[in-house]
Amino acid sequence: MILPIVKFGNPVLRQKGARVEKITPDIKKLIEDMFETMYAAAGVGLAAQQVGRALQLTVIDVRGVKDRPSTIELDGKPAEVAAVMPLVLINPGIQPFGDPVAGPEGCLSFPEIFEEITRPGSVEVNALDAKGQPVHFKSSGLLARAIQHETDHLNGILFIDRMPLKAKQALKVELDELQAETKATLQSKLG
Ligand code: ZN
Repeated sequence: MILPIVKFGNPVLRQKGARVEKITPDIKKLIEDMFETMYAAAGVGLAAQQVGRALQLTVIDVRGVKDRPSTIELDGKPAEVAAVMPLVLINPGIQPFGDPVAGPEGCLSFPEIFEEITRPGSVEVNALDAKGQPVHFKSSGLLARAIQHETDHLNGILFIDRMPLKAKQALKVELDELQAETKATLQSKLG
């Protein structure tokens, strides 16, 4: 089922996700729906907050992007990125490392807003997969960026928080409009 994607201005995007203690049927269905929602929106990642659930859960799939490569290391050895795709990360702990890299980023909660964001080029990940099994790997490239972007969501951090002040100021009108629109929609639902 395709779920509505929460937009900037909805307070759930600022909530830190609760840990997922058990892979219940509800969580399994949520994972399935999040993938369906992400693919329908042509995104590479989606966090639970973006469908209105403040949980430590994100789904990622970078296979659709051909011009921005990703690499992974499993058990200290280079591996195929496809080996961990589609990727479900539950209760992830990440350690970004390596030189900072600038790259374009968008977010399904900020339609039509794109900006260069600088983040460490690589990341070490410890999480649980969709079955509740531990996953551990290192990644670079687009996947490392997507993992950092999505893990930020799980902690209530948005890509606008990572923008240089100048870039954020340049987007002020668009951001204010989006926020006002989201709040008006929420208000009309309540009313
Ligand atoms: Zn996002």
